Amino acid sequence: MDPQTLQRCARLVLQHAETSRLFGVPFVPVYRTASAADDPAPPAQDAAPKPPAPPASTPRPEETSASDPFPSVVPGLHAPTGLEEIKPRSRAPADVQAALDELRRRYELDAPHQHFVTDHHNIVFGEGDPCARLMFIGEAPGAEEDRTGRPFVGRAGQLLDKMITAMGLRREQVYIANVLKTRPPGNATPTTEEIRLCSPYLFQQIAIIQPEAIVTLGLPATRALLETSDSMSRLRGRWATFHPPPPATQPIPVMPTYHPAFLLRSYTEENRAKVWSDLQQVMRRLGLGRSPRA
Ligand code: URA
Repeated sequence: MDPQTLQRCARLVLQHAETSRLFGVPFVPVYRTASAADDPAPPAQDAAPKPPAPPASTPRPEETSASDPFPSVVPGLHAPTGLEEIKPRSRAPADVQAALDELRRRYELDAPHQHFVTDHHNIVFGEGDPCARLMFIGEAPGAEEDRTGRPFVGRAGQLLDKMITAMGLRREQVYIANVLKTRPPGNATPTTEEIRLCSPYLFQQIAIIQPEAIVTLGLPATRALLETSDSMSRLRGRWATFHPPPPATQPIPVMPTYHPAFLLRSYTEENRAKVWSDLQQVMRRLGLGRSPRA
């Protein structure tokens, strides 16, 4: 590797570590797998989505020694399995997933995106735990999302992964979706009309999943749910309420925060601290975070 490339890599690694630290992740998150206990050199995990360690083999907080060089949890935080332990599974995940699959079929039949210009090859419907307690909603897929058919897998997605990790969770424990399911040309901000045409499918998605809280990422997603004309700086950090359509029966608290792509553009400590403070409010609401023993 030539010295310039090496220097660039070192800068990227340092920047990556600093972002993680600011989001409260003071370690490189590595999950033990069943065989890792016998393996003296467990593989490091970077910010890209990776297959999860099976929850059964994830050490619980009390099993994680403070000197563990590869902690599975942020010290003092619940293990990433915390959501599964807290949430009563009143609905069978397979049934909820079947309802989501049916909604996706309906979306594909209706194809609301045929009424506006797109630059898409795949529909990016959403992914995650169909019974997630927490849902993240962005605006629309970008190039990488369009290529893979998965939400938030590009640069903004890597930052979202860090935010989720900082909350003591794993990506597959939450549900991630967008207002628009197809990529706009040139990653243009969705128009009011595009949001109007697509949001009924998002609302149904929410009604099926019935999360206990929603984090909206950026203004288009926030406005889609809250029908507000306020600016992001006024909306972020304050709980609002979304009233989902049936079969959901309960209003859902919504925490608007800055979009990770905005953070990448305005990469200041102040902005990252604001997002972290918003996420901490969500953690408090869901009973995540500080363990009772901490
Ligand atoms: N930005 C979004 O709003 N959604 C994605 O899935 C990716 C980037």
